[in-house]
Amino acid sequence: DKIIEATNVSKWYGSFRALTDVNLTVRKGERIVICGPSGSGKSTLIRCFNRLEAHQEGEITVNGIRLHSKMRNVTDVRKNVGMVFQHFNLFPHMTVLMNCMAGPMWMKGLSESEAKKTALKFLERVRIPEQANKYPVQLSGGQQQRVAIARSLCMEPAVMLFDEPTSALDPEMVSEVLETMTSLARDGMTMVCVTHEMGFARAVADRVIFMDRGQIVEQGAPNEFFTNP
Ligand code: ADP
Ligand code: ADP
Repeated sequence: DKIIEATNVSKWYGSFRALTDVNLTVRKGERIVICGPSGSGKSTLIRCFNRLEAHQEGEITVNGIRLHSKMRNVTDVRKNVGMVFQHFNLFPHMTVLMNCMAGPMWMKGLSESEAKKTALKFLERVRIPEQANKYPVQLSGGQQQRVAIARSLCMEPAVMLFDEPTSALDPEMVSEVLETMTSLARDGMTMVCVTHEMGFARAVADRVIFMDRGQIVEQGAPNEFFTNP
């Protein structure tokens, strides 16, 4: 039931070492929050999990797929790993509905009508089905981020990665996105979230991981973690 297994993972950007011997196992249904100072490697680590970045040492296996330097096809990895970014990364020239249909059609080979059904199901899931025919620019930041979550869910991934999903939002929109994430967690979604939202961590995380200078320096259940001196 291991969805992600990272063993002794190291990564360099040129001569700069961004990750040093990181070990992390994420089991099915587990909710992990990663925190730590800016530049500590949080984003790099989770980007290695869906092969947006390539690690150079150690082993990463995601839903049974081993990520390695000679792999030619990352589509299978991306199908298994949903990712939500700070800046939404929606396709601006496509409607909300098409944003959500694209993955199922292009990566999973679903027909247009099947993809539409899937897209509407997950837009319902994030409670914005009425925005389906709008373009991203017509939506608030919070709504755009919920579309980004729906778009990832449409691939029915084994795990969802969140990279500071509320950091770019106006303060009044943070809670709607955290509520959506909390609701996914309650449904048993396997999640790895890089976030500074400690209220969310306390409420939702099974485990909080603290990174510093490319290493995991501490981890534990939210309760023990937050009471540490
Ligand atoms: P965090 O998510 O904890 O803020 P990052 O993983 O984004 O940290 O970055 C870790 C370190 O790696 C930082 O020092 C950052 O400047 C550096 N870094 C990130 N991406 C690149 C890149 N593409 N090229 C060079 N250095 C990078
Ligand atoms: P985000 O918070 O949305 O991940 P960042 O500002 O951390 O955005 O990084 C944006 C992009 O710049 C990422 O692709 C990251 O890998 C790259 N990057 C970050 N730090 C550096 C760096 N020191 N040198 C080169 N690229 C970097």
